[in-house]
Amino acid sequence: MTRPKFKQSPPPASSSSPEGYCQSCGRLLPRENKTDPTPRKYCSSTCRSHSKSTYLKDIRSQLTKGYHRLLNDGPTGQVILCSEVEKIIFVPTTHNTNKVEGIQTSTLSPTEQREESRRAARRLVALGFPSQGIAEEGREVEAIQNGKSVETSFAKGEWGIRWKY
Ligand SMILES: [Zn+2]
Repeated sequence: MTRPKFKQSPPPASSSSPEGYCQSCGRLLPRENKTDPTPRKYCSSTCRSHSKSTYLKDIRSQLTKGYHRLLNDGPTGQVILCSEVEKIIFVPTTHNTNKVEGIQTSTLSPTEQREESRRAARRLVALGFPSQGIAEEGREVEAIQNGKSVETSFAKGEWGIRWKY
């Protein structure tokens, strides 16, 4: 997949605006073209096609629920890492003892599994739980890496999310 290129240095983490992030991967959208006032929803054609995939839709719903459950199960302030949710949701078939939660992973590569878990976390930070299918969850989450708030579009390595308040 192609990632949007950013010419400027990463901006500091700031309050999210739903219009400014890709609805599929949760990354910051490139600046609006001023001659075209139509708001963009996706950063790329890849993200647009991902958002139309019924197969991915099910996986993305499971990932959202996985983050929500781990956030609620943990103590206040605990960071839920993208890799934790990835391990829970994408269970190898042979080790799958939880048929309800684990997803058959044969068609997603390990790289895509990792990316999907991160995309889910980015969407939750940028767009919130209600937009991802958990309508009753009004709380917001923030992205944390090494104890600091980060902008997920630029975060490399291990990061996670926690309740904002
Ligand atoms: Zn995108």
